[in-house]
Amino acid sequence: MSLIAVYPGTFDPITNGHSDLVNRGVKIFDKVIIAVAQNPSKNTLFTVKERIEFIQEIFDANSQVEIYSLDKLLVDFANDHNATVILRGLRAVSDFEYEVQLASMNRSMEPNIESVFMSPAEEYGFLSSSIIKEIAKHGGDLSKFIDKAVLAALQKKLR
Ligand code: ADP
Repeated sequence: MSLIAVYPGTFDPITNGHSDLVNRGVKIFDKVIIAVAQNPSKNTLFTVKERIEFIQEIFDANSQVEIYSLDKLLVDFANDHNATVILRGLRAVSDFEYEVQLASMNRSMEPNIESVFMSPAEEYGFLSSSIIKEIAKHGGDLSKFIDKAVLAALQKKLR
């Protein structure tokens, strides 16, 4: 039986921190399914379609990675895709409270799915999509933190 993890998030847009986590995930799981949330409450800069396309470009060559939009309850999505693990990233202590809350809620709805947390390489420990957007607005150098094509699209969008 293959071990499938779903990695949910907004990915607005995907950063090297997100990619780092996926690359760690595929070392442990047979497949990592990236589930891109619509998330109307977050007022995203990119549409779901755009966010999915960026991720597809990056993981095109990796057959262990699949990408879908997330338009239902996460545990239902996981069951639909035979995923038994929810993968989430933990950067700083500040992520902890929210993530534990989320994991507990998901477990109460679906006890057969475990949440697994991984931390990124140190250089991405402070990285978030919102900080990327903020720095991009002011023309800072982001080449170490985000894919080249995604950065170009971001700069274009902000122009
Ligand atoms: P959400 O709206 O679910 O917080 P995000 O796209 O911001 O969506 O994050 C998706 C997941 O990726 C979360 O588990 C988050 O903690 C994790 N994550 C975000 N940025 C990083 C990073 N730099 N390193 C590791 N994990 C990260």
